[in-house]
Amino acid sequence: MSATDRSPLFERAAQGVRGLHPYEPGMPIDELQRRLGVADVIKLASNENPLGPGDKVRAALAESIDQSNLGLYPDGGGFRLKQRISRFHDIEPGRITLGNGSNDILEFSARVFLNPGRAAMFSAYAFAVYPIVTQAQGARAIVVPARPPDDAMPYGHDLEAFAKALDDEVALVFIANPNNPTGTWLTPDSIEAFLARVRPHTLVVLDEAYQEYLDPDLRPDSRGLLDRYPNLVVTRTFSKTYGLASLRAGYGLSSPEIADLLNRVRQPFNVNSLALLAAEAALDDQAHVERSVALNTAQMLRLRKELEAMKLTILPSQANFLTIGFGCDSAPIHQGLLERGLIVRPMGSYGLPQFLRVTVGTEAQNTRFLDALKAVLAR
Ligand SMILES: *Cc1c(COP(=O)(O)O)cnc(C)c1O
Repeated sequence: MSATDRSPLFERAAQGVRGLHPYEPGMPIDELQRRLGVADVIKLASNENPLGPGDKVRAALAESIDQSNLGLYPDGGGFRLKQRISRFHDIEPGRITLGNGSNDILEFSARVFLNPGRAAMFSAYAFAVYPIVTQAQGARAIVVPARPPDDAMPYGHDLEAFAKALDDEVALVFIANPNNPTGTWLTPDSIEAFLARVRPHTLVVLDEAYQEYLDPDLRPDSRGLLDRYPNLVVTRTFSKTYGLASLRAGYGLSSPEIADLLNRVRQPFNVNSLALLAAEAALDDQAHVERSVALNTAQMLRLRKELEAMKLTILPSQANFLTIGFGCDSAPIHQGLLERGLIVRPMGSYGLPQFLRVTVGTEAQNTRFLDALKAVLAR
């Protein structure tokens, strides 16, 4: 719709919302199956765990359906899940905010700390939700240039540049470690050094959606950081390694004061009963996490080797996806893969039109991806 077609009602929408470009999700499997008329479409586009949830989650969900409590509102305080998370991280329940996905926590942080006249800071090529929640509040986005393509951590966050760009207008800083869509990561030392330079009235959100995939030697002591920096929120999700993306559960850890603020803008029943139950069972099944991480490590190594043999550029990744550079517009390659029943993520909306992001799948899924990619590139 052109600007002149817009009704007076559109003009009354909140300032930030009028200029908003909503998140574009990948194509759903069903839609591509209908288009192609085939049944075996594979989606490697949204970094879900290809194994899905573990057996403990499946059992807990099956049992809960039998008890048919779906007619009742969920526990709005999430008492049991908070108790479980509290034990898992050795943190008081009053320092936990539950979210309908960790996306909720990112949004609460923006709603609490941003409005017109304030700014949020994040890296170029960072998670697409940061600019959306910033814009929705009518706040300014300060997009910090990423590390250069020939750096050891190409397109990664440059925390030195973040620190230099901080000023009084900045109310909120988003850091993703590892980052999506690049897979790049930050050293624990660089994160702490940055936090030490942020003024205490500026909130820092450390988004750890892929934390479980990080090599243990590279993991920051986020729990310790929370005690040293009362202006820090650490977010975690059940959508990635825990395999619960469709149920929507995540959480934020922070000081009690920030948790209180975040909880003020949360809708009363934001996490549904099945998600609460499944998340609790998922935390109890660390063997499934280990299995999922081991599969990812082995298959990522294999994918990287084969893609390198095809002379493609692969960004360093400590997550469950690889971002692949083709040295030319990747749109025709994306299209060719779709025609072969493979959904991967184009990177044009992230400003990386020569790249595609591919989630690491099961061994069989990755074989199909590699075969399809070879066929497309040979055209
Ligand atoms: C997937 C993802 C999230 C979380 O998504 P939820 O499903 O809402 O928990 C958060 N941050 C990044 C960087 C992600 O890639």
